[in-house]
Parts: sequence; C-alpha cells; structure tokens
Amino acid sequence: MKAARGMVVSMHYTLTDDSGEVLDTSRGREPLSYLHGHSNIIPGLEKALEGTGVGHKSKVTVAPAEGYGEKNPEMIFEAPREHFPPDIKIEAGARVFAEGEHGRITLTVVRLTENGALLDANHPLAGKTLSFDVEITDIRTATDEELTHGHVHGEGGHQH
Ligand code: ZN
Repeated sequence: MKAARGMVVSMHYTLTDDSGEVLDTSRGREPLSYLHGHSNIIPGLEKALEGTGVGHKSKVTVAPAEGYGEKNPEMIFEAPREHFPPDIKIEAGARVFAEGEHGRITLTVVRLTENGALLDANHPLAGKTLSFDVEITDIRTATDEELTHGHVHGEGGHQH
C-alpha cells in the first residue's frame, strides 16, 4: 500500500529545527498515525510522503510556507502587567494562555518590558525551517467513520 488520500499512515519521526535542535520525536512511544490528504499534518511533510510505502525512510526539509507559516509581526504585541493573573510568574520563553475568538490560544513571552511583557501569538514553530527524519511503519485503508471525521481513530489517533 502507498500513502495516498484516504489512507491511514503511521510513522516514526524526529523533528529538528534549522539549528539541529530536536524539538519533538515519536521514538520511544507509539508511532504517529494521520489520515493522509486531510491536512492532519503540515502540507510540506504530507506532500513529501505522498506515494511512499511501509519501510520508507527519508529526511524531509520543510520551509515555513509549507510548515507553520511565516511569523506575522502583527501577532507580536505588548500586554500590560495587569492583564496577567497576579499569581503567575512571567519570564522570557514562558507560555501563557488566553481565550481567543476561536478558543484557547497559546502565547509565548518574548521578553519583559517596563510595563508588562511582549507576547507572541504566532505558532511556536512559525517562521522555522523544519527537518523531519521519518520512517513509515504502517499504512492501512481508513474506515468510513475516520473519513467522515477527518482524523484517525484508535492506536496513535483520536480516542473517542
Ligand atoms: Zn473521530
């Protein structure tokens, strides 16, 4: 079987950024399963895996435009100290959460300022060139229910 639209693809992956730092890996846990052709994973990786089979190993480099997008400077803004709960410690690199129009969003503290903090609402991986070391471990046909939901059920997928 080949990775194609409507197939459930399982893979081990190790994600590194352009400085070589490992950001995430599935090694040591279950492989990641995704529904091919349903935007479950970033476009650049999905494209690179199209047509591959079980046992396929490759290193895939994904530019920001095909990954989590470029950083949007308008999503970096200053928030005054009183906008934060008084009991939380704010420091550079910390993640804070806010209720946005479309649910909870994650913001990263860029640095502290005189009156509060500079926050970045971009995806933490936005603007980064990403490298994935991937190994396809399984490919199967998706069930009708999975196709309706647009994601994988069971092992390595949604449990519901
Ligand atoms: Zn579902």
